[in-house]
Amino acid sequence: MDKSDATPAISDYHKACPFCLIAQHQAPGATLYEYEDEDVVAFPDLHPIADVHILIIPKRHYSDLNGLTAKDEPLFGKVVRVASELAAKHTITRGWQLFTRVGKGGGQEIGHVHFHLISGKRA
Ligand SMILES: [Zn+2]
Repeated sequence: MDKSDATPAISDYHKACPFCLIAQHQAPGATLYEYEDEDVVAFPDLHPIADVHILIIPKRHYSDLNGLTAKDEPLFGKVVRVASELAAKHTITRGWQLFTRVGKGGGQEIGHVHFHLISGKRA
């Protein structure tokens, strides 16, 4: 697992990570932030597959969920809490999904852990 210190200056590696750039407000073009605090940021998926499709990411770079330890629990607990709050904010009454993919074999396309919050009619 590749992790860096919390909210570091962008290293050369992170310059190549689109989600690190979004997390640090350095992505090209405007990004609408659905939620942001010191640890977590959420923003609409660029290629939504449903009426509501929001990505929730830790600001710190984790390649994926492999190798998490107990000290990662508060951060990923916060991700779930943010998902719950965003679901309520978007008045998702038909239920919602929260999922992540791990590794290429699991269908992960961006190498920075991200959770999909999905609800409503599928595109
Ligand atoms: Zn990253």
